[in-house]
Amino acid sequence: MKKIILFLIIFCGLVLSLTAQDSTKAPKTKVIALNNHLYFVSVAGCNHIVSIGQNGVLLVDANYREYQRYLKNIIDSLGGKNIDYIVNTHWHFDHVGCNEIFGHTAKIISSEKVKEFLSEERMLLGKIRKPLPDYALPSIVFDEKYEMKFNGEIILMCNLSGHTASDIVVYFPESKVIHIGDLIFSDMFPFVDIENGGNVRKMLEHIICLSESLPKDVQYVTGHGRIYSYEDVSEYSKMLKSTMDIVMRNIDSGLTLEEIKKKDVIKNYSKYAIAFSCNDWIEFIYKSVKK
Ligand SMILES: [Zn+2]
Repeated sequence: MKKIILFLIIFCGLVLSLTAQDSTKAPKTKVIALNNHLYFVSVAGCNHIVSIGQNGVLLVDANYREYQRYLKNIIDSLGGKNIDYIVNTHWHFDHVGCNEIFGHTAKIISSEKVKEFLSEERMLLGKIRKPLPDYALPSIVFDEKYEMKFNGEIILMCNLSGHTASDIVVYFPESKVIHIGDLIFSDMFPFVDIENGGNVRKMLEHIICLSESLPKDVQYVTGHGRIYSYEDVSEYSKMLKSTMDIVMRNIDSGLTLEEIKKKDVIKNYSKYAIAFSCNDWIEFIYKSVKK
């Protein structure tokens, strides 16, 4: 594998939020050169891969629209010009926000489900999400897989739902880097968008499938948090499986959701309760199983 040849930290830190951000404050940002044309870029806790080279700029995920200029400034500082392609890993607003800014000129790639979800009013976290204008919708969509060559390397995209019904992963096999969207929230319980087709069991199945089929030295860029190694992914999937087993045993013994929450059955895993609590995670498991 190509080693990380340059490690540039502009400003380090993680802020995770699934709510609208305050655009008046400069967000925390972080940039890591993964090789001579591929960069890990984090803005306000939302992680991107950016490919910059002879074919132009490809951006994986589009952050909140409020952070457009911070994202663009970083791309400019890395030698990129206009953004030619945006890939949306799923339909959530912290991954598609800048479609409305850069979509005037960039081509947007994603799953058919992302286009469907962004084309209509949908509920997310108790709020109605308005449809995006046509120019901000993906124009290149696929059902299962999509492959393209860009900046001298093949990019493979594959539909792997679980966090929502719309998720894709974006794999750069020669660089041994993959962006897995929100299938994993690094070091914390993940959000599962049950009302839009998310399912904890599918999520785990797809994480295991990835870690078993990809080379062991692949770097996993997650939607939020630090870059994961194979070992990190294995430990994370063990945590998912153990907590799911505990909750499922309690469901099988006839307990209701509220009774399982009261028993505090996954308290031994409370270090993962960062963005979402143990009870949130119990509820995601319960609702996935009951669906
Ligand atoms: Zn998400």
